[in-house]
Amino acid sequence: MAAAAAAPCVVSSTKGSLREDLTCAICCDLFREPVMLACMHHFCRPCISRYWRGTQGPVTCPQCRKEFSCRNFQTNYLVAAMVEKVRATTSDTYIQNLKKQLKETLESYRLRRDDHNNNITRDKGKMDTIKRFGADLQTRVKGEFRALHQILDDEETCMLEQIRREQEEELEKVERHLEALRVAVRELEENMRMLQQASAATENTVLTELPQLRPCVQVDVAPEFDINGFSNKYMAPLQYITWRKMFKSLKPGPSPLTFDVESAHPSIRVSRDKTVAVECDGMILHMDHDKRFLQCVNILAAQGFQSGRHYWEVEVGSKPKWDLGVASDAVDRHSRIKLSPESGYWTLRLRNRNEYSAGTQPWTRLQLSSSPERLGVFLDCEERRVSFYNADDMSLLYSFANGPRGKVFPFFSPCISGSSQEPQPIKLLHYPPVALSG
Ligand SMILES: [Zn+2]
Ligand SMILES: [Zn+2]
Repeated sequence: MAAAAAAPCVVSSTKGSLREDLTCAICCDLFREPVMLACMHHFCRPCISRYWRGTQGPVTCPQCRKEFSCRNFQTNYLVAAMVEKVRATTSDTYIQNLKKQLKETLESYRLRRDDHNNNITRDKGKMDTIKRFGADLQTRVKGEFRALHQILDDEETCMLEQIRREQEEELEKVERHLEALRVAVRELEENMRMLQQASAATENTVLTELPQLRPCVQVDVAPEFDINGFSNKYMAPLQYITWRKMFKSLKPGPSPLTFDVESAHPSIRVSRDKTVAVECDGMILHMDHDKRFLQCVNILAAQGFQSGRHYWEVEVGSKPKWDLGVASDAVDRHSRIKLSPESGYWTLRLRNRNEYSAGTQPWTRLQLSSSPERLGVFLDCEERRVSFYNADDMSLLYSFANGPRGKVFPFFSPCISGSSQEPQPIKLLHYPPVALSG
């Protein structure tokens, strides 16, 4: 019974009392072949037989002492079955198994709980990260807008100050004219007074000569106030003019790149202003240059970057094929190389008119909803990020988070289209087309 006592208490108490009920009062053990006497008491068949053995005449129930004239008892199969059940469920093996099962179930629950607890910790960590990133982004966005507001505030202050100054100048001009007129009037009045005195004197005496008069100052006609000239430059389209001026202050605004002709593959022709590059059938004879791409039809911009944030826009039109992005200064320009960050290229590419990919290894196919004709490239040297935008609507196309270290150059490949059609160029966009002064 010691093993049974170690079992869970609910089971133990039920089993305990049941076991007592199924215990023979003679041998004090579980019934063996239980039989029932007419008084309804149960005993083991061997026990009651042994108990009655040697008794002459009527026998008695060992429990209630009731007398029976004949030795009758009935086999109780129901009790026998229950005894067998209790015996089985209180055996050492059964209890060991039960304990093992309990332990295993407990262990599996403990593992699941620990697993859930770990996930809770992970989720909380994720929430913290999201909150931190969100707050960080909000701070950055606020900063960017503060800079824009500052540009507009400065522009407004400057313009209002200019209006105030011009207004002052115009007022001063009129003020000076007014003063001159006042002086002239005073002088004229003085002369008039003298003439009136002289005229009054002629009634008594003979006037021999006119009184000595003061010379009168000649006052010019009032300067014309040019209302149109004053207001025109502050009228429409003031917002557009201001917006154009803002371009100079944007950080980063679109960089006006030019192609580096010395880096161009011999099959690339570059325009005189170095903003248009196009593939050509023949090979252009150049001075040999270490910077020149000799195997791939590539070209770099003349402007390299190794710090700060930079953005530029490129027009690819409806070219069926191109690569563009940034290339590390150190790339091997004399051999054929697969474009990937590992080989110093962070690029976006188009093949077959509508197959866009990011230049990872292997390529990452991009599903674009439209075919951009202009692309924006953003380079953040500090955060090592290279991002590509559809410059038609400024939607993000792809972003490399493992950007370059060290100096990089804007990179372009007009590719050899191989079609019979006139090859289409890659254009570096300068926007706005003409910088405004002031
Ligand atoms: Zn017995
Ligand atoms: Zn009895």
